[in-house]
Amino acid sequence: MVKVDKEKCIGCGACVAIAPETFEFDENGLSKVIDGAAPSEAATEAMGSCPVGAIVEAAENAEGGEAKVVDIPAKPAEEESDMAA
Ligand code: SF4
Repeated sequence: MVKVDKEKCIGCGACVAIAPETFEFDENGLSKVIDGAAPSEAATEAMGSCPVGAIVEAAENAEGGEAKVVDIPAKPAEEESDMAA
């Protein structure tokens, strides 16, 4: 499962847009993982899309929220599409 490092999150909303079943905004406008959210491909994709690397893997049995920081390779922007025939 994943968790959000609130120290890093800038509230850009990318993760909420990509995986709304996993992430939501808290009262401070920062992302948080929805209670009981199941691991999903969208959540993994959101992890790779976070511009500040705030989404980290959380050990499933961690009581204190021990987190492992995952090194995520930079991904090229996918905004432009070359669909010209
Ligand atoms: S993508 Fe990253 S910075 Fe943006 S809201 Fe989600 S956790 Fe915060």
